[in-house]
Amino acid sequence: MDLNYTAEEMAFREEVRAFLKAKLPPEIAAKVASATQLSKADYDHWHLALAEQGYLSGPWPKKFGGQEWSAVQKHIFEEECALAHAPRIVPFGVAMLAPVLQAFGSTEQQDYYLPRILSGEDWWCQGYSEPGAGSDLASLKTRAVREGDHYIVNGQKTWTTLGQYANKIFCLVRTSTEGKPQEGISFLLIDMDTPGIEVRPIILIDGEHEVNEVWFTDVKVPVANLVGKENEGWTYAKYLLTHERTGIAGVGGTNAGLQALKRLAHSEMQHGRPLIEDPLFAARLARFEIELMAMATFNLRTVAGADAGKAPGAESSMLKIKGSIMRQQINDLARRAVGPWAMPFVSEQLAGNLYHPGPEYAAKASNVYLNNRKISIYGGSNEVQRGIITKAILGL
Ligand SMILES: Cc1cc2nc3c(=O)[nH]c(=O)nc-3n(C[C@H](O)[C@H](O)[C@H](O)COP(=O)(O)OP(=O)(O)OC[C@H]3O[C@@H](n4cnc5c(N)ncnc54)[C@H](O)[C@@H]3O)c2cc1C
Repeated sequence: MDLNYTAEEMAFREEVRAFLKAKLPPEIAAKVASATQLSKADYDHWHLALAEQGYLSGPWPKKFGGQEWSAVQKHIFEEECALAHAPRIVPFGVAMLAPVLQAFGSTEQQDYYLPRILSGEDWWCQGYSEPGAGSDLASLKTRAVREGDHYIVNGQKTWTTLGQYANKIFCLVRTSTEGKPQEGISFLLIDMDTPGIEVRPIILIDGEHEVNEVWFTDVKVPVANLVGKENEGWTYAKYLLTHERTGIAGVGGTNAGLQALKRLAHSEMQHGRPLIEDPLFAARLARFEIELMAMATFNLRTVAGADAGKAPGAESSMLKIKGSIMRQQINDLARRAVGPWAMPFVSEQLAGNLYHPGPEYAAKASNVYLNNRKISIYGGSNEVQRGIITKAILGL
């Protein structure tokens, strides 16, 4: 398998670089680089810039206004964005719901929702998980009971990422309790303004408001908002999850973290010498870089295989596990590199490291480390991925 980039792919990389140089506002990139929480306005600005360039819908089918990017193009795009400290694309509309609507939605739903996803008119969030239904998603209990032209929805979703900004939520709801749990689930599109919906913040370990609980009390949802067929939502949900797990290795982001850490290790002094001259730290960094190169090659092999028509199976799980561990490791190294300056991690102290004055670059080291504990949980926890690998590869 040839892992070198073609001339077209290299030209595409240059095009993406030029776009990022021209359109990514330095103040937004600085926020991303320093792990400062982005405002809704920051996300909206970047969303529109990408939409205008046609990059937001790059991976979409041409039929829906996309460019049918290859897996390699998608990989190049993500890598360059990470290196330039561009905000991550909020995936719920563009990369999760859109493929489901394109595959299973009605023509009316496609015509109405897809343009609104690109224009940013609709900000979607994902209503899958519930207390007691995370890894075991099929045990979800939020009920939708049909009454005439509406469903009446009651229940609770949790861990809803950026739900505080969303005006729409796609939900898995139980429409039947007969048969296997997977058989009674439907996929509903719900307007967050509907009476009976309450969004409650969950503050994470780093002190930030990133996720929420969403409560539903007698929420009236038009039957027209059902995607596909009633009780067949599990099929659509699984289809969506295959999109959620692509790119989860996060090689670009980890590489950006490594480069930043290398720069820091040259300037940060320890016992009167640059940190990079500390043999233990240098060895840790070298070992990390070697492992990252190995993972990047495995990632490219999987991506090239996908372009050649080989659907990634257990490879996705392997990349998820290794990728999340490496992202957490680079955060750990970054935290250790700044030593005691990493201590203040309470949100009130973040603006300028007030409690424990130190260099600006060190202020968020612990927050990032703590926040990214999530990566080995969401998108299917690493334990669950290990279960998938033992079944698919070891046949256990
Ligand atoms: C920051 C963050 C953002 C999220 N955003 C969203 C979102 O926007 N929308 C949404 O719907 N969900 C979201 N999630 C939820 C996420 O998908 C779930 O947290 C995840 O699926 C795990 O479910 P759980 O938290 O209920 O843990 P559980 O499923 O209860 O698992 C608890 C522990 O048991 C282990 N375990 C469970 N089952 C098995 C098994 N079969 N074999 C071995 N070990 C097992 C798990 O690995 C874990 O360690 C988010 C989660 C986080 C942390």
